[in-house]
Amino acid sequence: RLYNEVQDLKGNIRVYCRIRPFLPGQSKKHTAIEYVGENGDLVIANPSKQGSHRLFKFNKVFGSTATQEEVFLDTQPLIRSVLDGYNVCIFAYGQTGSGKTYTMSGPSISSTVDWGVNYRALNDLFQISQSRKSSIAYEIGVQMVEIYNEQVRDLLSNESSQKRYPSSLYVLELMNIGLMNRAVGATALNERSSRSHSVLTVHVRGTDLKTDTLLRGSLHLVDLAGSERVDRSEATGDRLREAQHINKSLSALGDVIFALAQKSSHVPYRNSKLTQVLQSSLGGQAKTLMFVQLNPDVESYSETISTLKFAERVS
Ligand code: ADP
Ligand code: MG
Repeated sequence: RLYNEVQDLKGNIRVYCRIRPFLPGQSKKHTAIEYVGENGDLVIANPSKQGSHRLFKFNKVFGSTATQEEVFLDTQPLIRSVLDGYNVCIFAYGQTGSGKTYTMSGPSISSTVDWGVNYRALNDLFQISQSRKSSIAYEIGVQMVEIYNEQVRDLLSNESSQKRYPSSLYVLELMNIGLMNRAVGATALNERSSRSHSVLTVHVRGTDLKTDTLLRGSLHLVDLAGSERVDRSEATGDRLREAQHINKSLSALGDVIFALAQKSSHVPYRNSKLTQVLQSSLGGQAKTLMFVQLNPDVESYSETISTLKFAERVS
């Protein structure tokens, strides 16, 4: 195995934190982020209580100047292990506007420096599979779904299933179609994308040409719905229903990862569509990476703390 340098820190679960920068045009406000350590330490200051701090520990913290490439380099070994037959799940968690989509997909696809984890991952998997083609014949397929109100929608339903196992970078095009289909739904349904989970699944089949044995691996790349709490006194109707579904599925995800981290004998996969869809890449030999996304703004303090508490529970 070429890529067994993938270390297991706590079981097969690792947690990275990424802080997005203040955006251009946004007046530079105060931040609650006090310290970002090289060793994965993060210190948050309580804005309403002088001298009150909290320390959170991650496998890695990416500060606001971290580039897409830097983030990918620390993710690459995990992604490459898919070619050795591992199942890997990578997801981004955080409130709306914290940079989940930026990390997973990037802000645009026009320039490759902007590429997020999903483009880089597919590109890398193709390059490595090509370089091994004299010994292993790989096939790579993609699937893309959106989970909204506990319903799973296929974002590539118009593409023939044959096209979904291409042996070329056409897979990038498929992914673009899926992302576009999601965006179309989003405008029509009032920014629905921040209230749905999108799951890109990359299936890998490799035939060892010498021994004629087959290996299979899969990669799930998940851009989760925004984790912000909705004020129950204000939300009604559809908005309340959405909020309840999001709550339910995010806490189901938290429960599954918590059970795995505790090496509990019962893992409650059945409690949400999200955890059912991800089941094959959570637990067992599977490797999980969570990006905890933070908005630097001090006004996000209470959401930041609730995001960090979610991370703390599973790491
Ligand atoms: P989310 O998907 O969590 O709602 P986005 O990824 O859409 O958040 O990010 C919100 C805004 O911040 C977008 O305009 C995005 O381009 C920008 N942004 C997020 N992360 C970064 C980053 N690391 N560097 C520069 N801009 C970022
Ligand atoms: Mg988003």
